[in-house]
Amino acid sequence: MINTEILPVTAGKTETEQLHLRRAADCIKTGGLVVFPTETVYGLGGNALDGEAAKKIYAAKGRPSDNPLIIHVSTPEEAEKYAYTGELYYKLAERFMPGPLTLVLTAKDTVPKNTRGGLDTVAVRCPENMIARELIRLAGVPIAAPSANLSGSPSPTTARHVLEDMSGRVDMIIDGGAADFGLESTILKIDGDVATLLRPGKITKADLEACIGIVEVSHAVTEALAPGERVLSPGMKYRHYAPDKPLTLVGGSDEARIAFFAERQKEGAVIICYDEQAAKLMPDSVITIGAGDDLEAQGHRLFAALRECNSLEGKCVYANLPSTDGFGLALYNRLIRAAAHTVVYPDEL
Ligand code: AMP
Ligand code: MG
Repeated sequence: MINTEILPVTAGKTETEQLHLRRAADCIKTGGLVVFPTETVYGLGGNALDGEAAKKIYAAKGRPSDNPLIIHVSTPEEAEKYAYTGELYYKLAERFMPGPLTLVLTAKDTVPKNTRGGLDTVAVRCPENMIARELIRLAGVPIAAPSANLSGSPSPTTARHVLEDMSGRVDMIIDGGAADFGLESTILKIDGDVATLLRPGKITKADLEACIGIVEVSHAVTEALAPGERVLSPGMKYRHYAPDKPLTLVGGSDEARIAFFAERQKEGAVIICYDEQAAKLMPDSVITIGAGDDLEAQGHRLFAALRECNSLEGKCVYANLPSTDGFGLALYNRLIRAAAHTVVYPDEL
């Protein structure tokens, strides 16, 4: 067990906060692990150029070592040192960086194999969060960072969530308050002039297409994988985001969904629902995630809601099946995996 220190840093402006950031950067430089806030979710960071640090990250998360880590840089140009960039990269960088976009590119030898899970490619992101960028700048190395949750559980959007999973497993946690978006970055693979969406996020397919033209969508974004199928993004093959009770998504008309939720509640189920649906259900076993038409609020609350399920009694969980339009696709992608692709349509029962 490591003694995990918690360092509160909100704006990074005061002398104490600067000192915290410098200590955290030194910790990264000397092979340690530091959890830090980003605008998406909290990241579990180590020196991306140190293969041993990557091993420590996999161990702390309990993550399979074939599931590669995203490397975080403090400016888009820094990616040059670690990956082969090109025209598409710079078009996207100009429009969306710094921000919640990760680009998968052909790797240079400067990135250890451990960091990239043995692949020939590397995922690069330049986060917008000022604390994250300052930490990378002070460390003087790119920071490899997956989400700071135990493998399989929902990504952490607050330092409290991080503590639940990572206490005793990392050297430091920088507490920078709640994450802005609450869902992980959009991941786009660039292969010559072909761009493929591997994970949807705040930056949508339409946003990307407005910048670079046609974007393909990997079928693993919405569909279950065939047994033994090779995937573009190794993370797609693992169960993820799941609460400790089985989750089922509920599609179909609003009336049928509400009636179905109410019935299941009587049998002891927990319901994750929209604010306006809660009034029609028993309050004890309901977790709300925002108005039905407020997708941003839902993105912000989703992972916290999935974690809350664990502290409520009940044998199983039901939630609305999101639409796959626009930003909805990001919610759909997380929920469908948390539910292991289990969906019911009460209109058809
Ligand atoms: P997380 O770090 O928890 O947000 O997960 C990072 C995601 O990025 C995982 O699903 C990885 O499989 C994916 N990823 C990282 N590097 C690559 C890469 N080189 N090629 C494809 N996917 C990647
Ligand atoms: Mg993750």
